[in-house]
Amino acid sequence: MGLTDIRERVAKAEKQAGRPERSVELIAVSKVQPIERVEAVLEQGHRVYGENKVQEAQGKWPALKERFDGIDVHLIGPLQTNKARQAMELFTAIHAVDRPKLANTLARLAQEMGHCPDLFVQVNTGEEPQKAGILPADADAFIKEVRGLDLPLKGLMCIPPVEETPSLHFSLLAKIAERNGLEGLSMGMSSDFEQAISLGATHVRVGSAIFGERDYG
Ligand SMILES: *Cc1c(COP(=O)(O)O)cnc(C)c1O
Repeated sequence: MGLTDIRERVAKAEKQAGRPERSVELIAVSKVQPIERVEAVLEQGHRVYGENKVQEAQGKWPALKERFDGIDVHLIGPLQTNKARQAMELFTAIHAVDRPKLANTLARLAQEMGHCPDLFVQVNTGEEPQKAGILPADADAFIKEVRGLDLPLKGLMCIPPVEETPSLHFSLLAKIAERNGLEGLSMGMSSDFEQAISLGATHVRVGSAIFGERDYG
């Protein structure tokens, strides 16, 4: 547990997978965590963070960005179109692009603002009705659509169903990315990031294993 331990485990997994050192981006998922814990990890030098809500991130990161240089915050949760502008101002990357309406809004704003965060298309690999993401069968067409909008599409993202073997979902995501010529793979969390790295993850999203359990109470 803790940043140092997780960094070591990421490095070991990279090595075992025959991947270059530091080729995997470790996103420290800071959602819901008390600010002291986030400051402690910032003071250890880590600069890449993940948040799943625009509003929560907005209340936390602008102030921290004034105190610490070089911070990148990634949006890893769903995005409503009415918060897209705010998200484009705040985040380095958006991991949950999953529908044409959102893609069109991002494209319009990118034109207007002259920049756009790195984008990932979320794929609902477990085809769970309550979960965000494009269905695997619709992924190729949607990826094409996003590219047609001239958006900076980096790769794909998934959140495997909790009760299933994550490696099956990681493999499926990697396969869809490969056949579409996409390099980025945002997959793997506290309990399975090493497996994700062995299957090609370029971005792992690790929260509780770095910061400790989240207290939603
Ligand atoms: C909260 C969250 C994570 C981190 O989960 P941990 O199990 O704490 O590592 C990763 N990805 C997404 C999309 C999340 O919402």
